[in-house]
Amino acid sequence: MAESYYICLDIGGTKILGAIFNMKKEIVYRLKKKTKADGDSVQNVEDTIISVVSEMIEGFHIKESQIKAIAAGAPGVIDQEKGIVLESPNLPWKNYNIKKPIEKKFGAPFYIGNDVNVGVLGEYKYGVAKGCKNVVGLFVGTGMGGGLILDGKLYTGHLFKGAEYGHMILVPDGPRCNCGQRGCLEALSSKQGISDYIRQQAGRGRKTAMADACAGGVFKSKLLKKNLEARDPVTVEAVNRACYYLAIASGNLVNTFSPEIVVYGGGVIEACGDYFLDRIVADVDRFCMPSIRNTVRFEKAGLGDDSILYGALAMILDGSKKK
Ligand SMILES: [Zn+2]
Repeated sequence: MAESYYICLDIGGTKILGAIFNMKKEIVYRLKKKTKADGDSVQNVEDTIISVVSEMIEGFHIKESQIKAIAAGAPGVIDQEKGIVLESPNLPWKNYNIKKPIEKKFGAPFYIGNDVNVGVLGEYKYGVAKGCKNVVGLFVGTGMGGGLILDGKLYTGHLFKGAEYGHMILVPDGPRCNCGQRGCLEALSSKQGISDYIRQQAGRGRKTAMADACAGGVFKSKLLKKNLEARDPVTVEAVNRACYYLAIASGNLVNTFSPEIVVYGGGVIEACGDYFLDRIVADVDRFCMPSIRNTVRFEKAGLGDDSILYGALAMILDGSKKK
């Protein structure tokens, strides 16, 4: 009999990562593709997923019938049980049932969840948070995502809108955030927050190697790493500021949930995680209740860029258990 496989996707605003897992939960094939979500219709995004999955099936030389299930993490508010994307900031989806057309096309179950929720689930099942029961996850990328495992279960809140730590307000009259508020963690510590700060400083005439990269929007994480290592003063200042607010947010979350572990993931952490972790851990004592601080660990995501792919695998395996 032909072997069976799972296909897992990490759907971002600018790229899709795909992995084929065998039944031993090993990644046997990978695909990375740029997406152009801007301006594309819903049909086109759905087409993109279908074409990526088809391409993977072809590239790995297997048949559609060998695919046992497909799962994806995507940005936005997602009804994980029904497979409906309620809202998505970067993708043109609203109240969109993505489950049906994908299941129809491939004849296999399809699962979808919020990308950071799924990433934290991946770290909880297979990564650095394995064996913990309460996990706080903070994913630092272009934006700032959050995820929470409470008592061994992914907590998504009422109507799947929970764990939006990125919009925890830390400076009420601080920089403007995408959500319309001011001083959210996302506006201070995400790539956007760091980029805005560097742009502002460059605008004041301060010299920085990041000026061009921040002029038009957000920089690539690798470039941040390079300039951090080169000790570009404005870059170091911007990152230290981001870490300071991440430490305050982490302290608040630790005091609220008393998790065994706080996991930091996302593109920025994948590139510059050691620097961020050192700074956050150095600062966080000031913001944690001492009794709780003693029982929590602060760690980088163990699966790196694969957190969401492994979380998607966990959704498949949890989903198949329920049937
Ligand atoms: Zn906000």
